[in-house]
Amino acid sequence: MTSLKEKSSLSSEEKNALEQAFEEEEILNAINSCAPDKSPGPDGFSMGFYQKCWGIIKQDILGALNHFHNNCHMVKSFNASFIALVPKKKERLKKVIGNLVSGFQNAFVQGRQITDATLIANEVLDWKQKSGTPGLLFKLDIEKAFDKLSWSFLISILRQMGFGERWIRWIKYSFSTIKYSILVNRSPVGFLSPGRGIRQGDPLSPFLFILAMEGLSRMLEKAKQLQWTEDFEVGNGYGPPVSISHLLFADDTLVFCGAKKSQVQYLSLTLMLFEALSGLHINMSKSTIYPVNEVPDLEDMAAIMCCPTGSFPTAYLGMPLGAMNRSSQVWNVIVEKFERRLASWQQQYLSLGGRLTLINSVLDSIPTYFMSLLLMPAKVKQRLDKIRRDFLWEGNNKDHKIHLVKWAKVTLPKQYGGLGIKDLALHNKCLLLKWHWRYNQEAAGLWKEVIQAKYGSDSHWCSNKIASHPDSTISQYREDNVWNLILRRNLNDWELEEVFSLMATIQTSAINSQRRDKLIWRHSRDGSYTVKACYLQQSSKKTVIDQWPWKLIWRTKLPPKVICFRWITLKDSCLTQNNLMRRKFQIVNRCYMCLCNSESINHLFLHCTVATGLWNMFFSLFGLTWVMLRSLREAFVCWSSWKVGKSVKQIWSLVPACILWCLWTERNKRCFDGTPTPISTFKARCLITLFGWVNLSPVLSVDSFLEFISSIDLCC
Ligand SMILES: [Zn+2]
Repeated sequence: MTSLKEKSSLSSEEKNALEQAFEEEEILNAINSCAPDKSPGPDGFSMGFYQKCWGIIKQDILGALNHFHNNCHMVKSFNASFIALVPKKKERLKKVIGNLVSGFQNAFVQGRQITDATLIANEVLDWKQKSGTPGLLFKLDIEKAFDKLSWSFLISILRQMGFGERWIRWIKYSFSTIKYSILVNRSPVGFLSPGRGIRQGDPLSPFLFILAMEGLSRMLEKAKQLQWTEDFEVGNGYGPPVSISHLLFADDTLVFCGAKKSQVQYLSLTLMLFEALSGLHINMSKSTIYPVNEVPDLEDMAAIMCCPTGSFPTAYLGMPLGAMNRSSQVWNVIVEKFERRLASWQQQYLSLGGRLTLINSVLDSIPTYFMSLLLMPAKVKQRLDKIRRDFLWEGNNKDHKIHLVKWAKVTLPKQYGGLGIKDLALHNKCLLLKWHWRYNQEAAGLWKEVIQAKYGSDSHWCSNKIASHPDSTISQYREDNVWNLILRRNLNDWELEEVFSLMATIQTSAINSQRRDKLIWRHSRDGSYTVKACYLQQSSKKTVIDQWPWKLIWRTKLPPKVICFRWITLKDSCLTQNNLMRRKFQIVNRCYMCLCNSESINHLFLHCTVATGLWNMFFSLFGLTWVMLRSLREAFVCWSSWKVGKSVKQIWSLVPACILWCLWTERNKRCFDGTPTPISTFKARCLITLFGWVNLSPVLSVDSFLEFISSIDLCC
């Protein structure tokens, strides 16, 4: 057996730490961590009361709690529900629960994640499927999780796990004093004292529930020890095999079992015993039995369990289970979710900026959970890209519109010139890399044991072992300040360069042989891997990145459509006549504003007489003069580096976008209606637009704006 079950009870230090007297700080933290408007208890005081009046009532509360600590009994008048929440039992329990709960359980345990359970389930099932031997998998539906739990069962588990008697008495007391106050016309009229069940709202409940499920876990282990049932064993001859009899995530339970009638009978018996002892009911009609490989007499075994049969692929914790590797079918749910979302936006008019916000905040997060475990097939990526691309540029319109900027550039992070839409393939890679980081970082964990047993500790999972002896330390390869690397194998030609670059990097490093070696992720501040930092770092290596201080334009507060238009313009992609010609449109290229030059971005927004007039108006308003720059991008950089007074700084930052937006609106009016706006009206309209944006921004005052434009002469 593996090391999983060895540590299943508390050490005496842990036991004592749980039972320490309450300290003032601990209690205050607990009170402050509660919502102030949490409904008042039978004593009529809300948490807000305790938070506000802490200074006054502190002594009384500390006294009461210490009385509780010593006597495990509360003064009657003191609200019983207060006890459950104040002594920060949760925080204390959280610290030890990882040691108590076997690796088969994942919910709420620090350091264990929901994806761990799905990874283990899939790897174990895959192993079994490949072995060709028959097996059974049960998905159990445990009903009414919190409120039917038997206290005596829970307490006997606490005792088995080595909790001290004082702690057990506290918990017992919390149970026995739970009172459900019935509110009639908003005033309490009485109390009910229930006989069982842990409270839904108690912050401790999920943890106590996990401990109760640990009871099931131990009973299933016992059934295996008694040879009532067999579990699934994973092992490729690399060290001891790992056997898995079940996986629990809160009340989501999988049981792995041999495909024999006698075993199913015993399993049924074990579950019945669990029901009787714990009070938790397993709803067999909602549970499912899945055959792994060819299982004879499946129907008979389903009849023993009184549950329906199912087939793979199925789902576990929202993730596919038992699907073929790289199957694109399992991604259908994601594609459908995308389409459902889009359909729900069908009726709304959305600007480009609005659509961008929806893609960034809604669509891009839909596949993240799947991508954190599965590699997205290229076909699926193309499909999701097409959906997002069409929605971005065409909205809900069915007619084709020009996609102004290449998708590869759109999907760059904003600081590299993109719109921050996720590059799904890269994001997927960064999410999966996290597993490698965790594999090399975490000392233990059931998921890691499964991976090791299945692929060996020398597999692609650990790429850090290039030294001749895998357990050697870095300092062993450096003598008298000279590196002496003895490599495990001969290098390939393409690896040489990497080794040279490594040598150059470490040449001058000082080595401290006293400290333990550890992996460090260079691209984050604290040296640990984050998906976000990796994504940014990998994006910076792309050839399509656009080096320009893009952060200048993403900081200002403007309507989203203006932000997007400004981005498109600075990417030289808005449909000026120059750009239309580049796209092979046959037109006579002449600026609509001055009617003489050809219409390029720089001409229309900077050098055209109308544009220059507008820029100059703003310069004179701020009392400045300037020489017109060559390009729009230069003008933006120059504008933002100009030092202006604090009072007008905010207005100043909105001006270039305002000029762009107004010129483009006027240009389109001239192009489609053929009627130019008189220049003074146009300038006034530009100021009104700016005024509207100033109103949008809460930090700007209208007064300062009026003062700012009082000196204006619109006819120049
Ligand atoms: Zn012009």
